[in-house]
Amino acid sequence: MATGDPTEAVLRYLDERRQEIIEFTAELVATPSPNPPGDERAVARLIQDRMQKLGLMGAEVRARAPERPNLLYCQPGWAGTPRLILNGHMDTKPVGDEDRKLWRTDPLCPTIVGDKLYGLGAADMKGGLAAIIYAAAALRALDRPLRGDLLLILTANEEAPGEYGANWLVKNHPIQADFCLVADTAGMESDFDGLHICARNTVLFKIKVYGTQMHSSISDRFPSVNASVKMGWVLWRMAKDLKLHYEPHPLYPKGPTVNLGDLVSGGQAYGTFPGYAEFGSDIRIIPGMTVDGVERDLEEFLAQLRREDPELRVELEILGRGRPEEWKWLRGDEPFVGILQAASERVLGRRPPLAGFPAFTDAFWFHSYAGIPAIPAYGPGLLPLAHGPNEYVSLEAVVQASQIYALAALEYLDSWSGEPQCASKTK
Ligand SMILES: [Zn+2]
Repeated sequence: MATGDPTEAVLRYLDERRQEIIEFTAELVATPSPNPPGDERAVARLIQDRMQKLGLMGAEVRARAPERPNLLYCQPGWAGTPRLILNGHMDTKPVGDEDRKLWRTDPLCPTIVGDKLYGLGAADMKGGLAAIIYAAAALRALDRPLRGDLLLILTANEEAPGEYGANWLVKNHPIQADFCLVADTAGMESDFDGLHICARNTVLFKIKVYGTQMHSSISDRFPSVNASVKMGWVLWRMAKDLKLHYEPHPLYPKGPTVNLGDLVSGGQAYGTFPGYAEFGSDIRIIPGMTVDGVERDLEEFLAQLRREDPELRVELEILGRGRPEEWKWLRGDEPFVGILQAASERVLGRRPPLAGFPAFTDAFWFHSYAGIPAIPAYGPGLLPLAHGPNEYVSLEAVVQASQIYALAALEYLDSWSGEPQCASKTK
């Protein structure tokens, strides 16, 4: 048990376990959890074992399917309020380089070079998982309980479609908390170069183009519309002329990101004139934009193309409907945000500016679905390295993350005495 100034005690606890945190990160990387196919059992077992060794007892598994466990752990405070969640996902993207031409090291064998730990999921986000677990352990080792509850929620299935992770959890197990920090990969150019208070929702859609399927030997003798050629024209026009309506947002000066042709397919066989072609796309929308609004813009654009080309038979399909379309955003002046900035300043020697996260994270489910204000991403690792070959995480950043989380949680759970931000959500 640590005594004295709790701030110094948690920093000392984590500093003394620097090597242990690094080795645990490596063990997490060496325990693959690629998704698809999606199976977090081995990594969840490893985490449970480590949590028990660290005195974090009683983590519970909640799972829609046995191979997709979510781990929930609560470190109760003496007053039970406020309640803070530290969240991370246990799955990774697949290697995506089956003949190993792109990776310079074995992606499933953690390799340390200087301050960098290379391996699949090192940045996204096994370093972040190690950091939140050790932050909880540092608080657990204090000589007295804190005022509020600390919850660790370690989820399955963040990296692929399907309801097994945070999205399943918030719908099937009421989670009560005042604030949530998602320790996902956050750096853009350097670790902790922005504290993200909002993220972007994604609109996925398909453009379907119809033509005349027929024997290709007679396409010049009978009326024929080539679906592949028409689709190519639609794709090109969309890249050139599609305009989306939105209000500018200060944290997203470049606006939404439009990615056309993520998937392209068309035609049926050699010798068959193409009767159908399609392409799939994604648009990363910014705060204030909605799926309905993007759908309206896309439909108006297709209507314009139909007027230009009466032969064009084109349809829009919006994919993945059924979740709330409105993101909730942090205002930026929530107490925990300031607390986290101050903790970062203490550990890093600089105060991270508020920023907008370019991608989607599990914060959506906690904030927009369960009503728990959430920081979408503030973890070690650089987003440009995630999902790619030669992914690595800075070992120093992992240890710093554990210190930042522990200091911020300590301040929030022990000293913060304001009104709970989600009064109806506290127990
Ligand atoms: Zn992630």
